[in-house]
Amino acid sequence: MHEMAIAQGILDIVLKTAAENQVAKVTGIKLLIGQMTQVEPESLKFGFAALSIGSIADGANIDITIVPLVGQCNSCRQEFSVERYCFLCPNCSSASVTLVSGRELAVDYLEVE
Ligand SMILES: [Zn+2]
Repeated sequence: MHEMAIAQGILDIVLKTAAENQVAKVTGIKLLIGQMTQVEPESLKFGFAALSIGSIADGANIDITIVPLVGQCNSCRQEFSVERYCFLCPNCSSASVTLVSGRELAVDYLEVE
């Protein structure tokens, strides 16, 4: 299950960050998740809750922000939001497009006690 592996990765980051900052309890986790990752937020929350039992992040509130897909055209440099995975520049129709955002899978910040 895709989300379980991601939840484990997030838990690892959270525990490492907490240890580095001598945090005793993590009460909230703010996540940035790119649309491109196709992560199902509810499944991710469920997976994280299961994996974090007994850890200092047990019971932490998870707040997920979905980051939309944004591409930039390599020909005319126009930035545009990518709709329905159509990676064509709306300005010049170039197919040479770099993804600017939408692949994120990151812990934005932690709320701690
Ligand atoms: Zn263009």
